[in-house]
Amino acid sequence: MVGVAVVVEPGTVVVVVDEVVVAVVDDSAAVVATGSVVVDDVVDDGSVLGASAASSGAMVDVQPAQRRHPPSSGTMDRALTATRRYLRPRPKGRRPGQDGLVHGAEDRLEVTLLGTGSPLPHSERAGPSTLVRAGPVRLMIDCGRGSLMRLAGAGMFPTSLTALLLTHLHSDHVCDFNDLVTTRWVMSPGESPLIVVGPPGTRRFVDTTLAMLADDIGWRIAHHDDLTSPPSCQVTEIVDGEVDAQLGWSGTGLRVLVAPTSHRPVHPTIGFRLEYGGAAVAVVGDSRPCGGVDRLTAGASIYVQSVVREADVRAIPSTRLQDILDYHSTTSQAAATAARAGVGTLVMTHMVPAPDAASGQFWIDDARAEFTGHVVVGADLDSFVATPRPRARGT
Ligand SMILES: [Zn+2]
Ligand SMILES: [Zn+2]
Repeated sequence: MVGVAVVVEPGTVVVVVDEVVVAVVDDSAAVVATGSVVVDDVVDDGSVLGASAASSGAMVDVQPAQRRHPPSSGTMDRALTATRRYLRPRPKGRRPGQDGLVHGAEDRLEVTLLGTGSPLPHSERAGPSTLVRAGPVRLMIDCGRGSLMRLAGAGMFPTSLTALLLTHLHSDHVCDFNDLVTTRWVMSPGESPLIVVGPPGTRRFVDTTLAMLADDIGWRIAHHDDLTSPPSCQVTEIVDGEVDAQLGWSGTGLRVLVAPTSHRPVHPTIGFRLEYGGAAVAVVGDSRPCGGVDRLTAGASIYVQSVVREADVRAIPSTRLQDILDYHSTTSQAAATAARAGVGTLVMTHMVPAPDAASGQFWIDDARAEFTGHVVVGADLDSFVATPRPRARGT
């Protein structure tokens, strides 16, 4: 899954990522067209092909502007600079197949924090979202503000996702859904239904979002001859149990376990436990401590929890803000859950109020009073590889 730049016409460069043409860059390094054309023969080493090699027919349908002069070296430098804005270094062999799985991916369980923010806007923290890569499976858990931008920062586009998992339907956890479903649709060369797993209410949320987008969907279909059907979603609603078998992931070795969490009056809400290669990761979302969270976290290598810091929240003279203490885990409560469950690493996310470099130590100190394991104050794009633990066990 390596992006390449291909010269297609004198003075233009086509930016190709994941076998999909994403942009045509002209000789002023400006994007002059975008497309979603499948490229049959992507060079997988990030190299730039010369003009002759570019006539492979790979980038049909994209109509770059005609140029009278061949590109200068300066043009190429500018175009490549523009290209690199799209691309990040990434491991090879991670293209998703027709089944939505990334065959040949690294055989490990990895968690990346896409967004560690909360409803309060923050310049360096996107809204709540977590990426879990488990061998060939790519799961986005929640899709808060700016999560697609952070997904690009993690080296992925929405077309590479196997599924979206939702812990609950609070707006800060789902507000990028319209962007996700639309962008995946327009970037996919063919039909690519988005699998969505969430609590009851998810189907209605998906349907109403698509209804909200009806005008936009109609305009895009009218404009693009190769776009003939609207975006589609395959929704599974669940509050307790296992979803990997019904979604066809059993052959991947991944188990996805769901349990109810406690976030009333938001109800029902769920958390996820992902088991792969003997390791387990729990991504719990917004919740007070409860039996469901204990089941999800039992013996997990990594426990990702939305957290608020009670002393800081109480110091803010806002009743509305202090209300959040009712239905989130505090630093101390999350750490107590981590200790009870015997997890390896507690990763705090969705932090209110957002800590900075100095105050983050208070959050860690709170947690260490209850939990002797590893504690992390999460930052956007932090990544962790989960390794098996001696006490890891299923729920
Ligand atoms: Zn919430
Ligand atoms: Zn939230």
